[in-house]
Amino acid sequence: MLALTAKALFTPLERVEQPLVLIEDGTITSLGSGSTGELPSGAQHVDFGDGVLAPGLIDIHIHGGVGYDVMQNDEDGRAAFERFLVQRGVTSYYPTTVTASLNETLRALEYLGRAVEQADRSAPSHRARPLGIHLEGPFLSHLRRGVHPPEKLLTPDLKTFDRFWQAAQGRIRVMTIAPELPGAVEVIAEANRRGVCVSIGHSDATLEQANAGIAAGARHATHTFNAMRPLGHRDPGIGGEVLSNAAISADIIADGIHVHPAMVQVFLKAKGLDRAVLITDATAATGMPEGQYMLGSLEVEVRDGMCLHDGKLAGSVLTLDRAVRNVMEFAGVDLLESVRLATVNPARAVNVNRGTVQAGQPADLVALSRSGEVKATIVNGVLAQ
Ligand SMILES: [Zn+2]
Repeated sequence: MLALTAKALFTPLERVEQPLVLIEDGTITSLGSGSTGELPSGAQHVDFGDGVLAPGLIDIHIHGGVGYDVMQNDEDGRAAFERFLVQRGVTSYYPTTVTASLNETLRALEYLGRAVEQADRSAPSHRARPLGIHLEGPFLSHLRRGVHPPEKLLTPDLKTFDRFWQAAQGRIRVMTIAPELPGAVEVIAEANRRGVCVSIGHSDATLEQANAGIAAGARHATHTFNAMRPLGHRDPGIGGEVLSNAAISADIIADGIHVHPAMVQVFLKAKGLDRAVLITDATAATGMPEGQYMLGSLEVEVRDGMCLHDGKLAGSVLTLDRAVRNVMEFAGVDLLESVRLATVNPARAVNVNRGTVQAGQPADLVALSRSGEVKATIVNGVLAQ
């Protein structure tokens, strides 16, 4: 048994002073507060002093890190990447594909489907867990493709979606799609029926087209402002719909490069502390020196903290713990509020039973300093310091 104490705990919907968290067999068995005098005998006690305990962070949009791209079939690379995530406080993630040829995409989905299945069955370890796949592309707008290769974008159709689904052994949990494309509404409805969090993005949709996608079952939006029709006061477009529709959640890349800090503040005010989600969109270059790396089948170059392909931003080198600290600075929120955006909110968006600290939950926690620096991570009840 593991017994954790700290100055405070963020559930993260509330703050508990002087918490005592008991963990057994990878599960939180009890959560108390106040006295730490009742430590069960035989428990390994770890005290984080004036630190704060919070749920492990969850990244629903991430392409890789420490040299590994999630579309590569590379078990050692994935293991190193998952250990790196744990160092940054991330305990679960949704490996995210980029647009590639049909065959490359099918191969990556097979590999990632197996990785998710394996993680489900494997013994607890010092590695972050892939909980499901995020399919970003190929059903994206040519006008708002970012760096996704134009010749490989596809018009949405049910047959192709089903091929992806079968290759992934039903492990697709998030899909980014441009709702204005022909056939998109049917694919959105079917994906939603299969339990996928359909996220509108890489899109030139008008407000009405975005709304039709939401009516069909989309319930989230991908990297708000980036790869979207620009927000205009007479032509609000998809951005206007994302910010004004309280029924959907939305995510943002808070690295200070993809979106100006002032717009991160606007985003938070519009979506509120319940529906705003932080993502990294991190590439293989994350956690590595500047230089050349792969993003799917694209070569990217990291220069001055920017990840570029052909002069355009191509994902990021952001880590989720840094995004949490950035939002405190950009939007003036406190650590508890910022932690919500990277724990319970992404969990709700993808409808997974994680992202909170409570008895009966998997023991995924992070210990943070008061300024949000990671001190230690507990993943499936295993402490990594
Ligand atoms: Zn991405």
